[in-house]
Amino acid sequence: METEKPKVGNVKAIKGGTLIDGTGNEPIRNSLVIIEDSKIVEVGQVGQIKIPSGAEVIDASGLVVMPGLIDCHTHISFPVTPFAATGFGALEYSQADRTIWAVVAAKKLIEAGITTIRDMGSTGHIDLAVRDAIKRGDIVGPRIFGSDAGLTITGGHMDVLKNVRSLAFDLPLEYTQNQRPTADGVEECIKVVREQIRVGADQIKMWATGGVMETTERALIREYSDEEIKAIVKEAKKSGKFVASHAVGPPDAIKVCVEEGVRSIEHGIFNDEESIGMMSENGTYLVPTMVAYHLLTAPYMPQVIKEVANRAVIAHEKTLKRAKKAGVKIALGTDSGSPFGSVHGEVQHKELELMATRGLTAMESIVAATKTAAECIGIGDKTGTIEPGKFADLIVIEGNPLDNIKLLQEKGCIKMVMKEGKVYVKNP
Ligand SMILES: [Zn+2]
Repeated sequence: METEKPKVGNVKAIKGGTLIDGTGNEPIRNSLVIIEDSKIVEVGQVGQIKIPSGAEVIDASGLVVMPGLIDCHTHISFPVTPFAATGFGALEYSQADRTIWAVVAAKKLIEAGITTIRDMGSTGHIDLAVRDAIKRGDIVGPRIFGSDAGLTITGGHMDVLKNVRSLAFDLPLEYTQNQRPTADGVEECIKVVREQIRVGADQIKMWATGGVMETTERALIREYSDEEIKAIVKEAKKSGKFVASHAVGPPDAIKVCVEEGVRSIEHGIFNDEESIGMMSENGTYLVPTMVAYHLLTAPYMPQVIKEVANRAVIAHEKTLKRAKKAGVKIALGTDSGSPFGSVHGEVQHKELELMATRGLTAMESIVAATKTAAECIGIGDKTGTIEPGKFADLIVIEGNPLDNIKLLQEKGCIKMVMKEGKVYVKNP
């Protein structure tokens, strides 16, 4: 005799939708997802499993249910600056401005169906403060894994003093606010890693190479030395923290990061067969953030930036295809908040499209944005797929992204966003 499960806590049943569970398995039609409080307790088909009595039934007939999206590379405290701004917004915005930007960004992200982010560098501990405020329920937003400031060398990609100069905005350096601390040499690197762990960073971010926005001569140079990279990873590991490294290229720089045990290569544009092979062997994640470079190819960008960005876009596609072929774990990231139009809550959907049109299938892109992204952050046992025991982080959308990955970019496509069983968005 079948007995009904006693109703404990707050039970919800999402009924009748087509379920894309994030594992990459075939969608389940006429699905039923049972949620108790913050967790998924049962997943199956209508008729196969029972709706517990007293459950709140959410009708998802004709809609698609999928895991909440995860972005492994955001900068929520960076203002999304118009072109006329100084790259990283170093001059125009105070720490207070940035905090407000970040709170607004958090709300936009959850409303866009992004339920977890890994922030890849902030100033003034803003990512950590916003993370904690969301945890307390004071503000709304995705679950945040913050990196605090990250590590860059003096004169490196994220040394704001240099950025102001390199982008040729002719202003005195003393106007620069919120400069990021720089770390040079093994001893300083160890110290800064410890400081970031002290303030509560969830993982350590470092900038191992130059970046595309710095004009040609610095885009592809190595910044941190082998010894410094080794020291950073070792120190982070002592505290159980992963290291994510910005590494645009050259392949040699990527290889050192992989060898020393960096968990994820951010951007990883200029890879070669060998570096990709090493990433595959070592289980290193690739977080491409293709959309960031597409934005830099816009007609209004200065010629010098456009040139590198155009090269980057071509190389990125090659890298993505190579990585897929070699079995590298690919996780979605966007660089959301990076300068020049990288709008929080919009670029995530655009990145899905870019991945799905430049090497991956639509299903593979969704897996990169859900299961693999959760694993990259180290929370694969908690979220990323719609399976019993995991957090009820999911979205309900109109239309099937497997048929048209672009539909997520359409306004009104997202009908519901749920994080840990709590509904944040509900559109008719
Ligand atoms: Zn970034």
